[in-house]
Amino acid sequence: MATQLPSPPRVGMVSLGCPKNLVDSERILTKLRSDGYQMSADYAGADVVLVNTCGFLDSAKEESLEAIGEAIAENGRVIVTGCMGKEAEAIRARFPDVLAVTGAHQYEEVVGAVHEAAPMPPHAFLNLVPEAGLKLTPRHYSYLKISEGCNHRCAFCIIPQLRGDLVSRRPDAILREAEKLVEAGTKELLVISQDTSAYGVDIRHHPRMWHGHEVRAHMTDLARELGRIAPWVRLHYVYPYPHVDQVIPLMAEGLVLPYLDIPFQHASRSVLKAMRRPANEARVLERIKGWRAVCPDIAIRSTFVVGFPGETEDDFKYLMDWLEEAQLDRVGAFRFEPVEGAPANALPDPVPEAVKEERYARLMALTARISADKLATKVGRTLDVIIDAVDATSGGATGRSTADAPEIDGEVHLRDAGHLAVGDIVAVEIEDSDAHDLFGMPVA
Ligand code: SF4
Repeated sequence: MATQLPSPPRVGMVSLGCPKNLVDSERILTKLRSDGYQMSADYAGADVVLVNTCGFLDSAKEESLEAIGEAIAENGRVIVTGCMGKEAEAIRARFPDVLAVTGAHQYEEVVGAVHEAAPMPPHAFLNLVPEAGLKLTPRHYSYLKISEGCNHRCAFCIIPQLRGDLVSRRPDAILREAEKLVEAGTKELLVISQDTSAYGVDIRHHPRMWHGHEVRAHMTDLARELGRIAPWVRLHYVYPYPHVDQVIPLMAEGLVLPYLDIPFQHASRSVLKAMRRPANEARVLERIKGWRAVCPDIAIRSTFVVGFPGETEDDFKYLMDWLEEAQLDRVGAFRFEPVEGAPANALPDPVPEAVKEERYARLMALTARISADKLATKVGRTLDVIIDAVDATSGGATGRSTADAPEIDGEVHLRDAGHLAVGDIVAVEIEDSDAHDLFGMPVA
């Protein structure tokens, strides 16, 4: 017997203006087609009509407004995109019934608006790509990118040259993606960007409606909302700007994991200055103490570069003393190496390779000792652990505590855990520790 497929929604498109706008229309339609939508050549057959506007001249604006009016009269379900998206208020004032207004090149927003206005019926043959997209990570954790590019110009980095300045995603688009990921089985969201603390600066923290209330494009608001969607939310690449203090209470409340990944890179002021690092301020140690006072379980992870041009033995000793005092939970280190195109390559006083190696070994030995001491204090405690792998034959399992991000931090090795499933979050009694990992058994 033939399978009866549900018919996918149909999208009509009115494309006005120049060839650039036409290319935008083609990109939008290509994405919608790959999402399973059908196209409609007339208003009557369309479930929703997109009007891609032009606002170059007054006459073009008038033509765009007429086209919106015609689409509303003929179909009634209209989404406006293109150059006139800059005049969203004027469009809404004249046509209060438009479903959404998005600007030029905002492909993600316009495609999201179509999905909202005319959702695809769930069916395996129509939805070739799962709602949450194709993932390279296991089902129970997902990376969630909140912005692209970076406004800083660190001397050793070419990311701004490759990816441009910061461009933040809309908060509602991020939250919708988070919801889809959680519906598809994600338990842990790993928030990533080049600079998570700077999220929303480029769009002046412009708020968007989300489930009946406004959410600002700001790290704190986003973290709070994500915490309501996913069981575990982990923040990566956070620079210690003053407003980071506001997310620590969310960690103490349990909305966001008590984990901060802050790439400090160094502690010596002269090296940080040569690196042109953001948030290069002296009070970081005090702030770490303040965070621990609010949220005693907070795990702080960081990365450091040793052997940056001009780094003296005194600079390096300062870093070692700083690390001893900061007692970071997780530390990764790199020996400086020039990246083609990075301004740091032109700096004087390169550090000899043998000195870099020796400093790297000293730093790794110190941070391994700190890590071992900190992990030893967890023996005897009961911690929440997310399960990454189960070995039914041995009855063992591997997971991570709230202090461990996948791939980069330590693990928790479990015995008597063959009954658990990947993605379970379970209470584990910690029985032993070493320099990087914990060992324990699930609490019945
Ligand atoms: S290191 Fe990070 S903060 Fe600095 S320029 Fe590169 S991406 Fe931006």
